[in-house]
Amino acid sequence: MLKLSIIVPVYNEEETVALFYDAVQAVHAELTDVEYEYWFIDDGSADHTMDEVRKLQAKDAAVHYVTFARNFGKEAALYAGLKNATGDLVTVMDVDLQDPPALLPEMIAGVVSGEWDCIGTRRVSRDGESKIRTMFANTFYWLINKISPVEMVPGARDFRVMTRQMVDAILELGEYNRFSKGIFSWVGFKTKYLEYKNIERVAGTTSWSFWGLFRYAIEGIVTFSETPLMIASGLGAAMAGVATISMIFVIIRALINNTSVAGWASTISIVLFIGGVQLLVLGIIGRYIGNIYMEVKHRPIYVAREIK
Ligand code: UDP
Ligand code: MG
Repeated sequence: MLKLSIIVPVYNEEETVALFYDAVQAVHAELTDVEYEYWFIDDGSADHTMDEVRKLQAKDAAVHYVTFARNFGKEAALYAGLKNATGDLVTVMDVDLQDPPALLPEMIAGVVSGEWDCIGTRRVSRDGESKIRTMFANTFYWLINKISPVEMVPGARDFRVMTRQMVDAILELGEYNRFSKGIFSWVGFKTKYLEYKNIERVAGTTSWSFWGLFRYAIEGIVTFSETPLMIASGLGAAMAGVATISMIFVIIRALINNTSVAGWASTISIVLFIGGVQLLVLGIIGRYIGNIYMEVKHRPIYVAREIK
């Protein structure tokens, strides 16, 4: 019998854990030929999330959990889940039921057929999400697909069913700065996306702030594209070119006219402009160096308190 591991990151989700479990169990009733295990990864919740998970474990031996020593972020939780999962097939799901469990049978069938290594999901509408968040998300996908060699499918969720082979490939990428959307496409494998309309959270509230998402987007760009560095050097080269031409022009003019003290306004604007561009470029380089710094420290991606 095939075994499916269901990985569920949870962070302050006391209201949703039981609802999630019931919804997925209802789908299992249809999947008689699949054995399952749950891996709830508690990402340092400060509420009663773990009480809820322990209650489930008390009645269902297929429920397992990892608790983190503090909040390490959803990416770290996904990694911990993939590391502990023992299934032949592995799926990753949000606990707030924004990832519809009803799609699971079709997803599993797609992978079991052998035609696909991974069946993913993507949202084709973002109803119920704030306009500004949708706008930023669209801009992000447009930009990253322009500048990154790794394709990011717009609206793709982390919700996917993968083969053991694909999971092992993902685990080989032990980087500290994890951006799953990129990692999933980087490893490759034949992936098909099922589409569905956005579903709102059943209960609780999102733990992502606007700035949190913005930083996550920058993280995605820095970890999966070197284009900003190329733009930085391009800018430098272009400015050096302009500076050389204007220097020649200024020298010739001074020789002919014998006047060199004029144009204070233009001088100061050029100095300020060049200074600004230099700081911008330094900032871009700094982001990459910051990432390298975190990587070379080789810190663990998460610290577990309890694994059961
Ligand atoms: N999550 C997590 N750690 C965090 C933030 C979120 O493990 O620091 C989990 C959360 O419990 C949920 C999933 O990641 O299962 C998605 O979070 P959320 O619904 O808040 O994000 P959104 O759907 O708004 O992008
Ligand atoms: Mg959500």
